[in-house]
Amino acid sequence: MIPYGRQDITKEDIDSVVEVLGSDWLTTGPNVKKFEEAVGKYTQSQCAVAFNSATSALHAACEALGLGKGDWLWTVPNTFVASANCGVYLGAQVDFVDIDPKTYNMCPVDLATKLESAKAEGCLPKVVIPVHFSGQSCDMKAIKKLADQYGFHIIEDASHAIGAEYNGKPVGSCEYSDIAVFSFHPVKIITTGEGGLATTNSPELFEKMNLFRSHGVTRSPDLMQGESDGPWYYQQVSLGFNYRITDIQCALGTSQMQRLDEYISQRRSLAARYSELLCDLPLILPYQDSEQISAWHLYVIQVDTLNEGPKRRQVFETLREKGIGVNVHYIPVHTQPFYKNMGFAEGQFPESERYYSRAISLPMYATLTEEQQDHVIHSLKEILG
Ligand SMILES: *Cc1c(COP(=O)(O)O)cnc(C)c1O
Repeated sequence: MIPYGRQDITKEDIDSVVEVLGSDWLTTGPNVKKFEEAVGKYTQSQCAVAFNSATSALHAACEALGLGKGDWLWTVPNTFVASANCGVYLGAQVDFVDIDPKTYNMCPVDLATKLESAKAEGCLPKVVIPVHFSGQSCDMKAIKKLADQYGFHIIEDASHAIGAEYNGKPVGSCEYSDIAVFSFHPVKIITTGEGGLATTNSPELFEKMNLFRSHGVTRSPDLMQGESDGPWYYQQVSLGFNYRITDIQCALGTSQMQRLDEYISQRRSLAARYSELLCDLPLILPYQDSEQISAWHLYVIQVDTLNEGPKRRQVFETLREKGIGVNVHYIPVHTQPFYKNMGFAEGQFPESERYYSRAISLPMYATLTEEQQDHVIHSLKEILG
Protein backbone atom coordinates (compact mmCIF):
# COMPACT_ATOMS: atom_id res chain seq x y z
CA MET A 1 0.00 0.00 0.00
CA ILE A 2 1.26 3.48 -0.92
CA PRO A 3 0.38 5.50 2.21
CA TYR A 4 -1.05 9.04 2.06
CA GLY A 5 1.85 10.29 4.16
CA ARG A 6 4.95 8.92 5.80
CA GLN A 7 8.20 9.90 7.48
CA ASP A 8 11.67 9.85 5.98
CA ILE A 9 14.35 8.57 8.37
CA THR A 10 18.00 8.65 7.26
CA LYS A 11 21.19 7.14 8.64
CA GLU A 12 22.08 10.59 10.03
CA ASP A 13 18.76 10.71 11.91
CA ILE A 14 19.41 7.29 13.43
CA ASP A 15 22.99 8.17 14.39
CA SER A 16 21.89 11.36 16.13
CA VAL A 17 19.26 9.47 18.15
CA VAL A 18 21.68 6.69 19.09
CA GLU A 19 24.19 9.28 20.27
CA VAL A 20 21.66 10.72 22.73
CA LEU A 21 20.90 7.24 24.09
CA GLY A 22 24.50 7.02 25.25
CA SER A 23 24.56 10.51 26.75
CA ASP A 24 23.68 11.83 30.23
CA TRP A 25 20.31 13.25 29.19
CA LEU A 26 17.34 11.33 27.88
CA THR A 27 14.65 13.87 28.61
CA THR A 28 14.93 17.69 28.91
CA GLY A 29 18.58 18.32 28.16
CA PRO A 30 20.74 20.12 25.59
CA ASN A 31 18.95 18.62 22.59
CA VAL A 32 15.60 20.17 23.50
CA LYS A 33 17.23 23.60 23.50
CA LYS A 34 19.07 22.85 20.27
CA PHE A 35 15.85 21.85 18.53
CA GLU A 36 14.00 24.90 19.84
CA GLU A 37 16.82 27.12 18.58
CA ALA A 38 16.80 25.45 15.17
CA VAL A 39 13.04 25.93 14.70
CA GLY A 40 13.15 29.43 16.20
CA LYS A 41 15.89 30.46 13.81
CA TYR A 42 14.21 28.87 10.80
CA THR A 43 10.87 30.56 11.51
CA GLN A 44 12.50 33.90 12.42
CA SER A 45 10.64 33.98 15.73
CA GLN A 46 12.13 35.14 19.02
CA CYS A 47 11.06 32.26 21.27
CA ALA A 48 10.24 28.57 20.79
CA VAL A 49 8.95 25.96 23.27
CA ALA A 50 8.93 22.29 22.27
CA PHE A 51 6.20 19.95 23.59
CA ASN A 52 5.38 16.25 23.47
CA SER A 53 2.66 17.02 20.86
CA ALA A 54 1.02 19.87 18.98
CA THR A 55 -2.09 19.16 21.05
CA SER A 56 -0.12 19.96 24.24
CA ALA A 57 1.31 23.07 22.57
CA LEU A 58 -2.21 24.26 21.62
CA HIS A 59 -3.38 23.66 25.21
CA ALA A 60 -0.40 25.63 26.56
CA ALA A 61 -0.91 28.43 24.02
CA CYS A 62 -4.57 28.86 25.01
CA GLU A 63 -3.67 28.85 28.71
CA ALA A 64 -0.88 31.39 28.20
CA LEU A 65 -3.36 33.73 26.50
CA GLY A 66 -5.64 33.49 29.53
CA LEU A 67 -8.41 31.44 27.94
CA GLY A 68 -10.79 30.02 30.55
CA LYS A 69 -14.34 29.58 31.72
CA GLY A 70 -16.72 32.10 30.19
CA ASP A 71 -14.44 32.75 27.20
CA TRP A 72 -14.97 31.75 23.58
CA LEU A 73 -12.52 30.05 21.25
CA TRP A 74 -13.23 30.02 17.52
CA THR A 75 -11.61 27.76 14.95
CA VAL A 76 -12.69 26.08 11.68
CA PRO A 77 -14.62 22.81 11.28
CA ASN A 78 -12.14 21.66 8.63
CA THR A 79 -9.40 20.62 11.04
CA PHE A 80 -8.28 17.88 13.37
CA VAL A 81 -10.29 17.81 16.61
CA ALA A 82 -7.29 19.06 18.64
CA SER A 83 -7.70 22.64 17.32
CA ALA A 84 -11.08 22.81 19.10
CA ASN A 85 -10.44 20.50 22.07
CA CYS A 86 -7.73 22.82 23.44
CA GLY A 87 -10.49 25.31 24.30
CA VAL A 88 -12.65 22.66 25.98
CA TYR A 89 -9.71 21.58 28.18
CA LEU A 90 -9.75 25.05 29.74
CA GLY A 91 -13.51 25.27 30.21
CA ALA A 92 -13.97 27.73 27.33
CA GLN A 93 -16.83 27.54 24.85
CA VAL A 94 -15.98 26.59 21.29
CA ASP A 95 -17.51 27.87 18.06
CA PHE A 96 -16.57 27.63 14.40
CA VAL A 97 -16.07 29.86 11.37
CA ASP A 98 -16.73 28.27 7.98
CA ILE A 99 -14.03 27.81 5.35
CA ASP A 100 -13.46 29.59 2.06
CA PRO A 101 -14.51 27.06 -0.63
CA LYS A 102 -11.45 27.98 -2.71
CA THR A 103 -8.63 27.76 -0.15
CA TYR A 104 -10.31 25.45 2.45
CA ASN A 105 -8.95 27.87 5.08
CA MET A 106 -10.87 30.10 7.51
CA CYS A 107 -12.96 32.54 5.47
CA PRO A 108 -12.13 36.12 6.58
CA VAL A 109 -15.50 37.38 5.29
CA ASP A 110 -17.41 34.84 7.39
CA LEU A 111 -15.17 35.70 10.32
CA ALA A 112 -15.99 39.42 9.96
CA THR A 113 -19.74 38.73 9.76
CA LYS A 114 -19.68 36.44 12.77
CA LEU A 115 -17.65 38.95 14.80
CA GLU A 116 -20.17 41.68 14.03
CA SER A 117 -23.05 39.61 15.45
CA ALA A 118 -20.96 38.34 18.36
CA LYS A 119 -20.20 41.94 19.27
CA ALA A 120 -23.90 42.79 19.30
CA GLU A 121 -24.57 39.78 21.53
CA GLY A 122 -21.59 40.43 23.79
CA CYS A 123 -19.86 37.10 23.12
CA LEU A 124 -16.73 38.01 21.16
CA PRO A 125 -14.01 35.33 21.10
CA LYS A 126 -10.89 35.66 23.25
CA VAL A 127 -8.86 33.38 20.97
CA VAL A 128 -9.22 32.56 17.27
CA ILE A 129 -7.30 29.62 15.81
CA PRO A 130 -6.90 29.74 12.04
CA VAL A 131 -5.56 26.46 10.63
CA HIS A 132 -3.13 26.54 7.70
CA PHE A 133 -4.87 23.68 5.94
CA SER A 134 -2.65 21.40 3.83
CA GLY A 135 0.30 23.73 4.51
CA GLN A 136 -1.00 26.88 2.84
CA SER A 137 -1.24 29.91 5.12
CA CYS A 138 -4.56 31.51 5.92
CA ASP A 139 -5.13 35.14 4.98
CA MET A 140 -3.33 36.30 8.12
CA LYS A 141 -3.34 40.01 7.24
CA ALA A 142 -7.14 40.05 7.08
CA ILE A 143 -7.47 38.00 10.27
CA LYS A 144 -4.98 40.22 12.14
CA LYS A 145 -6.86 43.33 11.05
CA LEU A 146 -10.03 41.89 12.58
CA ALA A 147 -8.09 40.92 15.72
CA ASP A 148 -7.01 44.54 16.16
CA GLN A 149 -10.55 45.74 15.56
CA TYR A 150 -12.31 43.26 17.88
CA GLY A 151 -9.54 42.54 20.37
CA PHE A 152 -9.00 38.79 20.13
CA HIS A 153 -5.76 36.79 20.25
CA ILE A 154 -4.54 34.61 17.38
CA ILE A 155 -2.97 31.16 17.62
CA GLU A 156 -1.97 29.81 14.22
CA ASP A 157 -2.47 26.05 14.01
CA ALA A 158 0.50 25.55 11.70
CA SER A 159 0.59 21.76 12.25
CA HIS A 160 0.67 21.32 8.44
CA ALA A 161 2.85 24.26 7.63
CA ILE A 162 6.44 24.12 8.85
CA GLY A 163 8.54 25.24 5.88
CA ALA A 164 5.72 27.32 4.35
CA GLU A 165 5.98 31.03 3.64
CA TYR A 166 3.46 33.83 3.99
CA ASN A 167 4.23 37.22 2.47
CA GLY A 168 7.92 36.43 2.16
CA LYS A 169 8.33 35.29 5.79
CA PRO A 170 8.34 31.78 7.22
CA VAL A 171 5.09 30.57 8.78
CA GLY A 172 5.80 30.64 12.52
CA SER A 173 7.38 34.11 12.47
CA CYS A 174 4.22 35.27 14.31
CA GLU A 175 4.17 38.53 12.41
CA TYR A 176 0.35 38.39 12.40
CA SER A 177 -0.32 36.25 15.47
CA ASP A 178 0.50 35.77 19.15
CA ILE A 179 1.61 32.14 18.89
CA ALA A 180 2.08 29.57 16.12
CA VAL A 181 1.98 25.80 16.75
CA PHE A 182 3.64 23.01 14.74
CA SER A 183 3.17 19.22 14.85
CA PHE A 184 5.91 16.65 14.34
CA HIS A 185 3.71 13.57 14.10
CA PRO A 186 5.21 11.18 11.50
CA VAL A 187 2.72 12.11 8.75
CA LYS A 188 3.63 15.80 9.02
CA ILE A 189 6.49 17.56 7.18
CA ILE A 190 9.24 16.67 9.68
CA THR A 191 8.94 14.32 12.64
CA THR A 192 10.07 13.70 16.21
CA GLY A 193 7.89 10.56 16.54
CA GLU A 194 5.36 12.49 18.60
CA GLY A 195 6.01 16.15 19.20
CA GLY A 196 5.00 19.76 18.79
CA LEU A 197 6.35 23.25 19.23
CA ALA A 198 5.04 26.76 19.82
CA THR A 199 6.76 29.91 18.53
CA THR A 200 6.09 33.43 19.80
CA ASN A 201 7.75 36.85 19.91
CA SER A 202 6.45 37.51 23.43
CA PRO A 203 8.86 36.66 26.29
CA GLU A 204 5.86 36.67 28.64
CA LEU A 205 3.91 34.05 26.63
CA PHE A 206 7.12 32.06 26.28
CA GLU A 207 7.59 31.99 30.05
CA LYS A 208 3.99 30.89 30.65
CA MET A 209 4.16 28.09 28.10
CA ASN A 210 7.50 26.98 29.48
CA LEU A 211 6.01 26.67 33.00
CA PHE A 212 2.86 24.96 31.71
CA ARG A 213 4.98 22.29 30.00
CA SER A 214 6.44 21.18 33.32
CA HIS A 215 3.90 21.32 36.21
CA GLY A 216 4.21 25.10 36.69
CA VAL A 217 7.46 24.32 38.48
CA THR A 218 10.48 26.62 38.23
CA ARG A 219 14.08 26.65 39.45
CA SER A 220 14.58 30.23 38.35
CA PRO A 221 14.85 32.63 41.37
CA ASP A 222 13.35 35.43 39.23
CA LEU A 223 10.04 33.59 39.05
CA MET A 224 9.87 32.55 42.72
CA GLN A 225 8.02 34.12 45.59
CA GLY A 226 10.34 34.96 48.46
CA GLU A 227 13.81 33.56 48.92
CA SER A 228 15.21 30.29 47.67
CA ASP A 229 15.87 27.68 50.41
CA GLY A 230 19.06 26.55 48.68
CA PRO A 231 20.52 24.98 45.54
CA TRP A 232 17.99 22.08 45.60
CA TYR A 233 15.01 24.40 45.72
CA TYR A 234 12.16 24.64 43.23
CA GLN A 235 8.75 26.23 43.44
CA GLN A 236 5.43 25.44 41.85
CA VAL A 237 4.12 28.90 40.92
CA SER A 238 1.17 27.87 38.70
CA LEU A 239 -0.61 24.71 37.55
CA GLY A 240 0.92 22.84 34.65
CA PHE A 241 1.22 19.37 33.16
CA ASN A 242 3.98 17.00 32.14
CA TYR A 243 4.03 17.99 28.46
CA ARG A 244 7.79 17.65 28.05
CA ILE A 245 9.42 16.27 24.92
CA THR A 246 12.53 14.10 25.26
CA ASP A 247 16.11 14.80 24.21
CA ILE A 248 15.88 11.63 22.12
CA GLN A 249 12.99 13.04 20.10
CA CYS A 250 14.60 16.47 19.76
CA ALA A 251 17.83 14.97 18.38
CA LEU A 252 15.68 13.43 15.65
CA GLY A 253 13.92 16.75 15.11
CA THR A 254 17.15 18.75 14.79
CA SER A 255 18.48 16.23 12.32
CA GLN A 256 15.22 16.38 10.31
CA MET A 257 15.28 20.21 10.28
CA GLN A 258 18.42 20.08 8.14
CA ARG A 259 16.36 18.53 5.33
CA LEU A 260 13.25 20.69 5.74
CA ASP A 261 13.88 22.85 2.66
CA GLU A 262 14.63 19.76 0.60
CA TYR A 263 11.38 18.16 1.79
CA ILE A 264 9.39 21.24 0.83
CA SER A 265 10.87 21.40 -2.64
CA GLN A 266 10.18 17.67 -3.17
CA ARG A 267 6.58 18.14 -2.04
CA ARG A 268 6.20 21.18 -4.30
CA SER A 269 7.40 19.24 -7.36
CA LEU A 270 5.06 16.35 -6.58
CA ALA A 271 2.15 18.78 -6.19
CA ALA A 272 2.98 20.51 -9.47
CA ARG A 273 3.16 17.13 -11.20
CA TYR A 274 -0.22 16.01 -9.80
CA SER A 275 -1.78 19.30 -10.87
CA GLU A 276 -0.33 19.05 -14.37
CA LEU A 277 -1.29 15.43 -14.96
CA LEU A 278 -4.75 15.50 -13.36
CA CYS A 279 -5.97 18.75 -14.90
CA ASP A 280 -8.14 17.08 -17.57
CA LEU A 281 -10.14 15.01 -15.11
CA PRO A 282 -13.47 16.14 -13.60
CA LEU A 283 -11.86 17.09 -10.30
CA ILE A 284 -11.27 20.19 -8.27
CA LEU A 285 -7.52 20.45 -7.69
CA PRO A 286 -5.98 22.41 -4.80
CA TYR A 287 -5.91 26.17 -5.28
CA GLN A 288 -2.53 27.77 -4.78
CA ASP A 289 -2.00 31.44 -4.07
CA SER A 290 0.90 32.29 -6.37
CA GLU A 291 2.23 34.81 -3.82
CA GLN A 292 2.65 32.20 -1.07
CA ILE A 293 4.61 28.99 -0.59
CA SER A 294 2.68 26.01 0.75
CA ALA A 295 4.40 23.25 2.70
CA TRP A 296 2.14 20.76 0.84
CA HIS A 297 1.39 18.53 3.81
CA LEU A 298 -1.67 17.31 1.88
CA TYR A 299 -2.74 17.14 -1.75
CA VAL A 300 -6.55 17.08 -1.69
CA ILE A 301 -8.80 16.53 -4.70
CA GLN A 302 -12.57 16.98 -4.77
CA VAL A 303 -14.59 14.47 -6.81
CA ASP A 304 -18.16 14.42 -8.08
CA THR A 305 -18.35 18.18 -8.21
CA LEU A 306 -21.10 18.21 -10.85
CA ASN A 307 -23.12 15.54 -9.03
CA GLU A 308 -22.48 13.06 -11.83
CA GLY A 309 -19.93 10.29 -12.25
CA PRO A 310 -18.64 8.09 -9.44
CA LYS A 311 -19.19 9.30 -5.90
CA ARG A 312 -16.41 9.99 -3.43
CA ARG A 313 -16.91 6.73 -1.58
CA GLN A 314 -16.61 4.70 -4.78
CA VAL A 315 -13.49 6.56 -5.93
CA PHE A 316 -11.97 6.19 -2.47
CA GLU A 317 -12.68 2.45 -2.22
CA THR A 318 -11.42 1.74 -5.75
CA LEU A 319 -8.17 3.58 -5.03
CA ARG A 320 -7.73 1.59 -1.81
CA GLU A 321 -8.32 -1.65 -3.76
CA LYS A 322 -5.52 -0.58 -6.09
CA GLY A 323 -3.12 -0.30 -3.15
CA ILE A 324 -3.33 3.45 -2.79
CA GLY A 325 -3.71 4.51 0.84
CA VAL A 326 -5.89 7.55 0.29
CA ASN A 327 -7.44 9.34 3.27
CA VAL A 328 -9.95 12.09 4.02
CA HIS A 329 -9.15 15.40 5.78
CA TYR A 330 -11.27 16.43 7.62
CA ILE A 331 -14.59 15.22 8.98
CA PRO A 332 -16.03 18.58 10.11
CA VAL A 333 -15.36 18.85 13.84
CA HIS A 334 -18.85 20.18 14.65
CA THR A 335 -20.39 16.93 13.31
CA GLN A 336 -18.46 14.76 15.81
CA PRO A 337 -20.77 13.28 18.46
CA PHE A 338 -18.85 15.06 21.24
CA TYR A 339 -19.56 18.44 19.62
CA LYS A 340 -23.11 17.52 18.61
CA ASN A 341 -23.74 16.88 22.32
CA MET A 342 -22.81 20.53 22.87
CA GLY A 343 -25.55 21.60 20.48
CA PHE A 344 -23.87 21.67 17.08
CA ALA A 345 -25.71 20.14 14.13
CA GLU A 346 -25.14 19.19 10.51
CA GLY A 347 -25.91 22.02 8.12
CA GLN A 348 -24.37 24.73 10.30
CA PHE A 349 -21.17 25.12 8.29
CA PRO A 350 -22.17 24.23 4.72
CA GLU A 351 -18.86 24.96 2.98
CA SER A 352 -16.92 22.65 5.31
CA GLU A 353 -19.59 19.98 4.93
CA ARG A 354 -19.78 20.20 1.13
CA TYR A 355 -16.00 20.12 0.88
CA TYR A 356 -15.86 17.10 3.21
CA SER A 357 -18.41 15.16 1.13
CA ARG A 358 -16.10 15.30 -1.91
CA ALA A 359 -12.54 15.38 -0.55
CA ILE A 360 -9.84 12.73 -0.96
CA SER A 361 -6.23 13.18 0.17
CA LEU A 362 -3.84 11.60 -2.32
CA PRO A 363 -0.44 10.19 -1.29
CA MET A 364 1.92 13.10 -0.60
CA TYR A 365 5.29 12.80 1.11
CA ALA A 366 8.85 13.75 0.25
CA THR A 367 10.00 10.27 -0.77
CA LEU A 368 6.97 9.38 -2.93
CA THR A 369 8.47 8.25 -6.25
CA GLU A 370 7.27 9.31 -9.70
CA GLU A 371 6.37 5.66 -10.42
CA GLN A 372 4.17 5.54 -7.34
CA GLN A 373 2.65 8.86 -8.28
CA ASP A 374 2.01 7.61 -11.84
CA HIS A 375 0.13 4.65 -10.38
CA VAL A 376 -2.12 7.08 -8.48
CA ILE A 377 -2.65 9.24 -11.59
CA HIS A 378 -3.37 6.30 -13.92
CA SER A 379 -5.76 4.79 -11.40
CA LEU A 380 -7.70 8.06 -11.18
CA LYS A 381 -7.82 8.27 -14.99
CA GLU A 382 -9.19 4.74 -15.12
CA ILE A 383 -11.89 5.49 -12.55
CA LEU A 384 -12.89 8.91 -13.88
CA GLY A 385 -11.76 8.96 -17.52
C1 LIG B 1 -1.74 16.80 13.51
C2 LIG B 1 -2.57 17.97 13.88
C3 LIG B 1 -2.77 18.37 15.20
C4 LIG B 1 -2.30 17.57 16.39
O1 LIG B 1 -0.96 17.29 16.34
P1 LIG B 1 -0.33 16.26 17.40
O2 LIG B 1 1.13 16.56 17.31
O3 LIG B 1 -0.67 14.90 16.90
O4 LIG B 1 -0.90 16.54 18.72
C5 LIG B 1 -3.48 19.53 15.44
N1 LIG B 1 -4.00 20.25 14.44
C6 LIG B 1 -3.87 19.88 13.16
C7 LIG B 1 -4.45 20.73 12.08
C8 LIG B 1 -3.16 18.72 12.83
O5 LIG B 1 -3.05 18.34 11.57
